[in-house]
Amino acid sequence: MQKSAQKIIVVLLLTLFLVFGAQAKLLVHYIDVGQGDAILIQTPQEKNILIDGGPRVAGDIVVNYLKEHNVATIDVLIATHPHEDHIGGLLAVLDVFPIKAVYYPQISHTTKTYENFLIKTNLSGAKRIQEKSGVEVEVDPKINLVFLAPEERNYEEVNHYSIVAKLTYGETSFLFTGDTEVINEEKMLENKANLQAEVLKVAHHGSRTSSSEAFLEAVDPDLAIISLGKDNSFGHPHQIVLDRLIQRDITVLRTDELGDIVLVSDGKSISIEPNDMMLVHVTPTGKKFHLVNCRMLRDNKIPLERKEALLKGYEPCEICKP
Ligand SMILES: [Zn+2]
Ligand SMILES: [Zn+2]
Repeated sequence: MQKSAQKIIVVLLLTLFLVFGAQAKLLVHYIDVGQGDAILIQTPQEKNILIDGGPRVAGDIVVNYLKEHNVATIDVLIATHPHEDHIGGLLAVLDVFPIKAVYYPQISHTTKTYENFLIKTNLSGAKRIQEKSGVEVEVDPKINLVFLAPEERNYEEVNHYSIVAKLTYGETSFLFTGDTEVINEEKMLENKANLQAEVLKVAHHGSRTSSSEAFLEAVDPDLAIISLGKDNSFGHPHQIVLDRLIQRDITVLRTDELGDIVLVSDGKSISIEPNDMMLVHVTPTGKKFHLVNCRMLRDNKIPLERKEALLKGYEPCEICKP
């Protein structure tokens, strides 16, 4: 073979490696919407999935967040259940973004907000699909997204209709729970649903009506995300739930303490995307900064913004990787 031909082949192989060799990333954004939930998932093949849209007052926050993160179309919209702190903000989202498919629970909940939501999804031209446990959402062949709840259609509580979805990418997985409660957790355990996940979105903003010991045992996460507003009137998160998480050595990340939380998966492991505004903690004598419940952190911890910690010469802890 001629030298020039060899050169071309080498360049071609290098290009192929650069295009296909590097593992594409999955991003999961837990958007700080105050008291409520809004989660944006950007898949390896650049599809956008939005789970809930926060309360109505956070509509603009969600719309701007999506714009800032290059979302032009929402491929899949999941409205976990009709409560205002989950679907209120979706009214603004539906006004701005084209939506390809909407998944929502079959429930007659006649608030004005839910009525508007149904009217707007109808007008949007999106494919409307009523959820069911066992449904697989086909959006990106690189990931698997499956619904594990709700099982039945005759609950009294609106929260019991919450869609619970499990997302798997390579060896990493995320569980999204909406406001599901213990009755649904028991049903999923009874069904032997595959609940294990590295990251758990703690159900119902850390309320004691969810996150039973048996459920946490089955999910067995490393990271728990709680989406909630500072000083909310419900007393969320409840201490008993925090205690259960901490006893299991689960790292707890809260939107009321950290603001937006972004997790990145390369299919093998999950990391937290550094956010300069987020609060980290240092000690009077240590040289590292930590997440609030890092086991390396002692009692006399001092909170400061991540960017300030870096300016002062602290380095991120290798255990909690803030
Ligand atoms: Zn809620
Ligand atoms: Zn709810």
